[in-house]
Amino acid sequence: MKTLALLSGERIPALGMGTWMMGEDPARGADEIAALQHGIDLGMRLIDTAEMYGEGASETLIGEAIRDRRSQVFLVSKVYPHNAGRHSMPAACERSLQRLGVDCLDLYLLHWSGSIPLDETIEAFERLRAAGKIRHWGVSNLDVRDMKALFTEPAGERCAVDQVLYNLSRRGIEWDLLPWCQARNMPVMAYSPLEQARLLRNRELASLAASRGVTPAQLALAWLLHQKGVIAIPKATGRSRVEENFGALDVVVDAKLQAALDRIFPPPAGPGPLEMI
Ligand code: NDP
Repeated sequence: MKTLALLSGERIPALGMGTWMMGEDPARGADEIAALQHGIDLGMRLIDTAEMYGEGASETLIGEAIRDRRSQVFLVSKVYPHNAGRHSMPAACERSLQRLGVDCLDLYLLHWSGSIPLDETIEAFERLRAAGKIRHWGVSNLDVRDMKALFTEPAGERCAVDQVLYNLSRRGIEWDLLPWCQARNMPVMAYSPLEQARLLRNRELASLAASRGVTPAQLALAWLLHQKGVIAIPKATGRSRVEENFGALDVVVDAKLQAALDRIFPPPAGPGPLEMI
């Protein structure tokens, strides 16, 4: 498995698994658990969730999936902005830990910025870290201006990642946020890397992928993994899709392929607001 280094030096998988919408339909639960367990066995050991996903249903499902595999997994969850305060965050974290059936999260992210001041949120993260409830903390959906503000706060530079929308059809962060994070060796975690499967219906992408003997999903993920400091967290149900996505690690993105992708999905020509889903 390709790995990336966090600022602490710890290496984490570049290809992980998302879990938004998992755990919400009991009829799909067994398939979802099998998909996650298969992904872990393959080496996609990073699992992303949030207290928001199914109001805890995703965390509960993951708890079941990792019961005998906790030590193999790098577990990421997120706190609602309205729970990111001095008193609310420890309680929210405890609920997430309970649902996941673990003692500690590997990474805890602020899901997006809200009305609680950043310094209070950082202080709450740092207290959880000191208490051994989380190992690292980071943010999600923060644009480059927010990141600069974060870094002016005490301990703000301890932020481990920014998780943002990034895929072939959403390349805006290449203008400013991605280079800013790359310059600080801070990984960017690309969410909705397949644009929630909409990318896979792009005919030009499909034909380019076919010309290389790979699938559109593999090409879209391989392109992300080819960028410096980028982690991708596709969500997939079913062992075969998980295996297909894992195959992205074997796709070589050479200069010719990169140029062909740039023609179909041009890079940004100027600054723009951070896109979100
Ligand atoms: P993705 O871009 O990962 O796409 C998921 C969709 O693609 C699902 O419908 C899935 O179907 C389908 N899919 C996956 N692999 C394949 C394949 N090989 N062939 C065909 N279809 C495929 O979207 P998400 O929005 O789920 O993003 C990934 C993760 O990022 C989330 O699950 C979540 O953990 C995180 N996220 C974070 C956000 C934030 O604000 N921080 C916002 C959005 C997402 P199926 O499941 O049926 O297999």
